[in-house]
Amino acid sequence: MSQSVLVTGGAGYIGSHACKALAQAGYVPVTYDNLSRGHRHAVRWGPLVEGEIADRTAVAAALKRHHVASVMHFAAFAYVGESGTDPALYYRNNVVGTLALLDAMREVGVDRIVFSSTCATYGLPEEMPIAETTPQRPVNPYGETKLAIERVLHWYGQAYGLRSVALRYFNASGCDRGGEIGEEHHPETHLIPLVLRAALGAADPISIFGIDYPTPDGTAIRDYIHVEDLASAHVRAIRYLAEGGASTALNLATGRGYSVREIIAAVARATGRDVPQREAPRRPGDPPALVADPRLARSVLGWQAECSDLDTIIGSALAWETRRHNEPAR
Ligand code: UDP
Repeated sequence: MSQSVLVTGGAGYIGSHACKALAQAGYVPVTYDNLSRGHRHAVRWGPLVEGEIADRTAVAAALKRHHVASVMHFAAFAYVGESGTDPALYYRNNVVGTLALLDAMREVGVDRIVFSSTCATYGLPEEMPIAETTPQRPVNPYGETKLAIERVLHWYGQAYGLRSVALRYFNASGCDRGGEIGEEHHPETHLIPLVLRAALGAADPISIFGIDYPTPDGTAIRDYIHVEDLASAHVRAIRYLAEGGASTALNLATGRGYSVREIIAAVARATGRDVPQREAPRRPGDPPALVADPRLARSVLGWQAECSDLDTIIGSALAWETRRHNEPAR
């Protein structure tokens, strides 16, 4: 059986870590990426096919040429704020692009896909921890586009026999502990790299978005999951589908939340430096707390977070940021 997996968005943050995990598990990750937001230098464990997911003919050709048996689909835009100001961009790329990818898969007869979904599909959940059965009511176009594809996958499964695992990530964080790849967003908006850069003197003081949340220290709580744990869940999902597993959607998380102030304190510990900080208004649409119930992924995939303790997340991200800080920009 073919061991090639087409990894759309394989040059991006989570996709590149998944490629490394696939290669380590004996698969050939074939990255399919237009490099609009990914990085050529992050493609290190298999071939790179440069192309648009919306280009059905090119996707079909790549699937055939590399004898692909299953797809991991990361390629998407993922800035919540940008999705609010330019929803057309998000619907076109994340929804219309994905429909073309699925058409290409149908054309070639590839019927297994692992899809990057998100806790943003839950919106402002009323129950905590969040289970897969918690109602999905996104509050921004980004979350809407991801939920739209979850629904597409459901109906394509019914009609066309496509089997899928939608993985709903909570807060992806940390970097490859081997130091080969890391988080490189332009612009960077995520908390942990920004706190690290503030501590290292490589960026402005960190703005704490909201200090009046109904949480123990007043700042927002998130469930941070190491990107290597995300990657290993994807490999397990590929295996699960290959073994005939039924379509499903799973939270990927630890079940433990940390507040913004706890993250800042952990960075201060790891760097031995005070973190320059300032208090700022809440970011619109940010829920007070997002913490998942991760048990379903454990029972379905036999997966659980193994390197998502806060010190490992911060330590691996610090090693990466320190290198970037000391190296010329790529
Ligand atoms: N956050 C913050 N300052 C920043 C960036 C983020 O206080 O400069 C907060 C944000 O409001 C949220 C948490 O940190 O409560 C995690 O934000 P991030 O953007 O990393 O991920 P999100 O939870 O939005 O997906």
